[in-house]
Amino acid sequence: MQIHRLRQLLSVERVLGPAPGPAAGTAGAAASADWSRRVRAVVERLARAGSSTLVATADGPPEESDGFVRERLLFDSPARGGFRAAVLAPAGTGPLPAVLVLGGRNARLDQLTGAEPPDHPDRDVAAHLARAGFLTLALDPGIDGGLDPDRLAGRDGGIVLAHAFALRGHSLLGALLGDALAALEWLRGHPRAAPGRTGLFGHSLGVAVALHTALLAPEPPPVCAAGHLGSYPALFARLLTGFEGAVLPGILDAAGRTVLTPVNTFFATAAAAVRAGARVRFVDVELDGLGMDPGALRRALDGERDVAAVVPVHIGGGVSPALETLLEECREHGVPVLEDAAHAFGSTLDGRAAGPFGRFGAFSFFPTKAATSGEGGLLTGARAGDLAAARLWRDHGRSPTDPGRHDRPGGNWRMGEPAAAVGTVGLERFGTALAARRAAAARYDGLLAGMGGLRPFPVPKASGSNFYKYLAYLGDGVDRAALKARLRERHGVALAGEVYDTLLCDQPFFRGPADAPGAFPRARWFAGRHVALPLYPSLTEAEQFRVAAALRSELR
Ligand SMILES: *Cc1c(COP(=O)(O)O)cnc(C)c1O
Repeated sequence: MQIHRLRQLLSVERVLGPAPGPAAGTAGAAASADWSRRVRAVVERLARAGSSTLVATADGPPEESDGFVRERLLFDSPARGGFRAAVLAPAGTGPLPAVLVLGGRNARLDQLTGAEPPDHPDRDVAAHLARAGFLTLALDPGIDGGLDPDRLAGRDGGIVLAHAFALRGHSLLGALLGDALAALEWLRGHPRAAPGRTGLFGHSLGVAVALHTALLAPEPPPVCAAGHLGSYPALFARLLTGFEGAVLPGILDAAGRTVLTPVNTFFATAAAAVRAGARVRFVDVELDGLGMDPGALRRALDGERDVAAVVPVHIGGGVSPALETLLEECREHGVPVLEDAAHAFGSTLDGRAAGPFGRFGAFSFFPTKAATSGEGGLLTGARAGDLAAARLWRDHGRSPTDPGRHDRPGGNWRMGEPAAAVGTVGLERFGTALAARRAAAARYDGLLAGMGGLRPFPVPKASGSNFYKYLAYLGDGVDRAALKARLRERHGVALAGEVYDTLLCDQPFFRGPADAPGAFPRARWFAGRHVALPLYPSLTEAEQFRVAAALRSELR
């Protein structure tokens, strides 16, 4: 198995961060409930098991011998076609505790049920359980044996199958897990299954299936595990089991998945996701802080099968208080947040700087932005591994220790020395520039108070904007294009560019039938109504008077 694929597979834990340590009292209980919910959400998302019902067909008549009944079944699985299963139980009619038996990858059904002599001591686990008085349902993992040995050409059948699932954007474990969940429900509905007394037995690969099944089952059943317990890294790095069919894929890859972005943002926010192979779904904004609308976001998270990331944008430099709900929602769904903080260098929410709210924060230092290096930008992230990965992507995937080695298709996203020099000087002056922007914004607030036809956007109290843009709404019936033309021609006042006047769903690249004309009502209202007043650190008080006077005279 290639090392980079292994790393990808093992990246799951990084989505979750460390588990909460033992803490006493209700806070500890709440933290661990929160942790469980997040683990469940992540596993559900990565497994893509979906809910299904297994339909059983009898594969021959039931047999009764030596005090046991044996039924051979064929289940029809949505993920992997038909697979065989067998019920084995003590003869009789009374209710019995039930066990779903999930064998190892080489287990053969007839060996699990003892119909054939086991090749391995205790492989006949269903027979042992039936003798102990359990109703058992054993599933055939069906991993080996189905592939033509000539075409395998000596390769391991299980790994070939795992790769075949991966090529379709799914995982073998996800498929086995989906089948096991449905089989568990089938077993719980068996006429002889005692209500509330169903458990799971797993051996080897079956342990991985059993643990994931127990995690996602509606009423978590008890699990008996005969095999290695532990994290994916323990399984792979330390125990070297090497079978990638036994893990769910990680999240580094956005290809074929969905990224949620606001519909009101710069083209680059969504184009970056497209370039990573993702499908973009747009989300409406909220008008209090101009963030992503929490209700619309929740509907998108619930409605999409596989969200790779959510990318909020701090539009105009304000970090919306709704970001808190967004972060919470994404935590619950196990989806990473990447902040597009291109507008928000120096901005805060409740005193905390924009950028580190998400797993990554991306700032632009393009010349029009609040901080600039001419070209280039800045990426923030809290995890050393993430930052090391970003450094590799930045420089053609080149290894920092062995410049001749490349393990990923990075690009030339380096900042050149001249730009870095410009940026360094800019950063030294940034505090002064930010203070000047904020002072100018406060002056506008005073100058525009009570003006007819124009209402400054009320920046929420918690949001410490850098005033990349000073936004205001035009009154009903004011024609923005005509107003801007008159301000320029009659007064020599040029308003700044809107953020933005065209929604991404209306851009030629993204325009499609999926977005109905009435979609995104709030973003559409905002896009059509707002203006951005001239604001930059060297703007003088006299110039602001002129801007206000020009507006007053044109909006009369
Ligand atoms: C400017 C901007 C970008 C792109 O920044 P570059 O430095 O040109 O890559 C991305 N997102 C938003 C919201 C922007 O305003």
